[in-house]
Amino acid sequence: MKTPNMLEAKKRNQKEIEYINYNNDLGKFGNGRKFYVRTYGCQMNEHDSEKIRGMLLSAGFIPTEDITDADIIILNTCAIRENAHDKVFGYLGVLKHMKKGKKDLLVGICGCMAQEEVVINEILNKYKQVDFVCGTHNLDNLLSIIKEKIDTKKRQIEVLSYEGDIVENIPVLRESKYSAWVDIIYGCDKFCTYCIVPYTRGTQRSRRHEDIIKEVEDLVKNGYKEVTLLGQNVNAYGKDLYKDYTLANLLEDTAKTGIERVRFVTSHPWDFTDEMVDIIAKYDNIMPYIHLPLQSGSNKILKLMNRRYTSEEYLKLYKQIRFKVKDSSITTDIIVGFPGETEEDFLETLKIVNECKFDGAFTFAFSPRENTPAALMKDVVLEEVKMDRLHRLNEIVNKYSNEANHKMMGKIVKCLVTDISEKDENKVCGYTENMKLVNIVGPKSLIGNIVNVKITDTKSFSLDGEYVEEN
Ligand code: SAM
Ligand code: SF4
Repeated sequence: MKTPNMLEAKKRNQKEIEYINYNNDLGKFGNGRKFYVRTYGCQMNEHDSEKIRGMLLSAGFIPTEDITDADIIILNTCAIRENAHDKVFGYLGVLKHMKKGKKDLLVGICGCMAQEEVVINEILNKYKQVDFVCGTHNLDNLLSIIKEKIDTKKRQIEVLSYEGDIVENIPVLRESKYSAWVDIIYGCDKFCTYCIVPYTRGTQRSRRHEDIIKEVEDLVKNGYKEVTLLGQNVNAYGKDLYKDYTLANLLEDTAKTGIERVRFVTSHPWDFTDEMVDIIAKYDNIMPYIHLPLQSGSNKILKLMNRRYTSEEYLKLYKQIRFKVKDSSITTDIIVGFPGETEEDFLETLKIVNECKFDGAFTFAFSPRENTPAALMKDVVLEEVKMDRLHRLNEIVNKYSNEANHKMMGKIVKCLVTDISEKDENKVCGYTENMKLVNIVGPKSLIGNIVNVKITDTKSFSLDGEYVEEN
């Protein structure tokens, strides 16, 4: 058994990262057993789940969409806020019940929660229904852990506190045939004081650019239309690995592969250079959509958060992007109720939101995370004050996202059609270049294509449109 230690996880060692090839051929021990993976949290977890599915498939397990049919269930978890924990622990109750009726059912936990000491202690003491736990740093070892569980019948817990090497070519079973996630940088060294990610995902490690470009080229060959370059802070790409190769170079090289759409997420304002903005503006196949977390409009709170920029610097970058990148849309993340946030600080946040008029925002009430500096800060904001601020912020955010969407009314825009619409099975849906979801009147044969769509109605979180045939 290997369990995590959050203090060890905080340390940054100078060990050189090795780049190794995935090699975990244990044969087809899955024997046709069915698996189900449930994902919580961010895009990086979505992509990790694609790797979990890929590895299981390579070992002879079979995917099922019906959880009651599964022989092995894996929860790929998120630790970012307390409610993410609650959801997983709540679901473990459901699985306990399922296991009573199905003795051989295996239940496993992966992802960020697996990296937390408190969680592992709780699982060891209270959640006997969990058969195995695999941390984020040794995900490539998942099959060995599962095989050991099957062979020995003993519970397996393997979580490392230090990040491992970068493992290339882990098998992937992708969700989409048209749009693919591509990791470019793992971990984070920013240590924003509220955030658990640097502890659960380890030190910042960039993939080699030639490996990334090879992956994108293979995706192009396989008919993919879009890639999203992934990392907790993509703008830091290359800093740990190269002297003079940055996200700007990587974006340019990715654009040159000929893939029709390049996206990237998440950006940190501190590492966002003028050169990056210029490259985004220069290439038509780099999409004009930027997720640029603000977190707070108050310089006092930004400092307490260790965000390394002021609201003035944020605004300057924001305006530069809007000015240079044609028809861009910009979304953000905002936390309310950070320790020490007064009404005046909160009004500073509203002020910058009123100035930026974001296309959308993910808004959160501060949630203290064990072992992070902010969890120990004084001047805690009362829960009802947090909720009131969240409510007031959301009203303004929704107003601007409505307005931004309304500006698209009557326009003919390019959409990558990805699926049948969730709203109406007679429609299809897809995303505009600036990342607006559109429910489209048009035939199912459009799925997988980039087509012209006329916007016919706008709502807060989506648009309606109709397919326009090319002349
Ligand atoms: N790396 C990205 C960044 O720098 O903004 C995103 C990190 S996190 C997965 C997504 C968002 O969760 C953050 O931008 C932040 O707004 C929010 N978040 C992180 N920790 C939080 C906490 N302890 N309480 C409330 N919200 C939090
Ligand atoms: Fe967390 Fe800050 Fe790193 Fe984003 S940049 S993952 S918020 S520590």
